[in-house]
Amino acid sequence: MKIRNQKNEISNAEVIKLASVCVQKYIQEMGWKVPNDITMNILEIYESVIYPEYEISLNTEHNLGTNGEQKILGKMLSKEKIILIDRSINEESHDPRFTFTLGHEIGHAVAHVGQSAYFRCTEYTIYDKVQNLQEYQANLFAENIIMPDGFVKNRFEYYYDVNRPILYKGAGCYNIGMGNKKIDINSLAHFIWILAAPLTGYFSNISKESLAYKILKIGVVKNETEENLIFDSLGQSFSGSKRKIFRHGSKILHN
Ligand SMILES: [Zn+2]
Repeated sequence: MKIRNQKNEISNAEVIKLASVCVQKYIQEMGWKVPNDITMNILEIYESVIYPEYEISLNTEHNLGTNGEQKILGKMLSKEKIILIDRSINEESHDPRFTFTLGHEIGHAVAHVGQSAYFRCTEYTIYDKVQNLQEYQANLFAENIIMPDGFVKNRFEYYYDVNRPILYKGAGCYNIGMGNKKIDINSLAHFIWILAAPLTGYFSNISKESLAYKILKIGVVKNETEENLIFDSLGQSFSGSKRKIFRHGSKILHN
C-alpha cells in the first residue's frame, strides 16, 4: 500500500490517495450504504481502520510540554508506533483541535514512518504557516480524512438542491436554504457559516473555520468579492454532532 520513491518521500497526490483509501475502508467497515448515514468521526476512523491496519497506538493522557514557546499538541513516534495527543485537547475536552490534531498525527504515521524518528507538532506547525513538506502533508492528510472533498460537495449540493456554486456578492439580504429564508448577511464568513451549519451533523467535532474553508476551497460557494474569509466575529468552535465523541472509554488506549 505504501508508495515510495528512493528518498522514501511521498507525493502530495499520494497522501490524498492514502486518506481517501482510509475513508473508503471506514465507510465499508461501518456498513454505510448511503451518504446520509455517514458521519466522519476521526476516533472511529482510528479504531476501525488505522489501528487494525497500521497498529499505531494512541495515548491522550499526557501533557506533551512545549517546543520553545509553542505548546506541543501532538506527537508521533516512528519506532514505537505511537501517537500522543496532548491531554489539554483530548477527546474529553471536546476541543475541536483534537479532531484535526489526531488526523494530522495519523497522517505522519501513515505517510512518514521511517522519514524521522519522531514528529513533534505544535499549534504553529498544525494550524499556521507551514514551511516543511512533512507538516504540510500531515495537514493535507488530516483535511482529506476528516472532510473528504467529494463527501462535503455531495452533502452540500444535496442539502441545497444545487449543482452549481452558490454566489456570495457581498453583505446584504439573501434567500437561503429550505423555504428560501431571508437572512441579513454581514460578511463572507457569516454567509459561509450560515450555509455550512446544517451540514455539521455529518462531522464529529471540527472547527467551523475548517468546514467553511473547505466549502470555499471545493467551490460550492463562490466568492465574487474581494473580501477574505475572516472568522474573528463568529467565535472559535462548535461541536458538530450531538453524538458524544468519546464513546469507547479507555478502549482506544492501546499502549
Ligand atoms: Zn506534524
